[in-house]
Amino acid sequence: MEHKPIQFEVRSFDDVSAADCSPQQTVDGIEYAVMCPACNGRFTVEEVGSIYRKAPFAKQAKPASGVVNVVCECGEEHTGRPPADPFVGCGAAWRIRK
Ligand SMILES: [Zn+2]
Ligand SMILES: [Zn+2]
Repeated sequence: MEHKPIQFEVRSFDDVSAADCSPQQTVDGIEYAVMCPACNGRFTVEEVGSIYRKAPFAKQAKPASGVVNVVCECGEEHTGRPPADPFVGCGAAWRIRK
């Protein structure tokens, strides 16, 4: 599927099953290949001890058991994205559920 250059917007999407994200065991965690439900951007997230490594501030948050929080990080520019936003993506958020 093609990447869609949609307007940046913070919004939540339904959980996806971990089994659908090609989980790969890595040296220190599990890596998931994900596709953004909003813009079709593809990227990987790595779960290290139930903490989403690409979100530094998430380390303060208590990780919910059995889920990995994901924020779109497709690496493509989306119109209206706040420059201070650490995630280069469309603003979509969802969770990988095990
Ligand atoms: Zn995108
Ligand atoms: Zn996206």
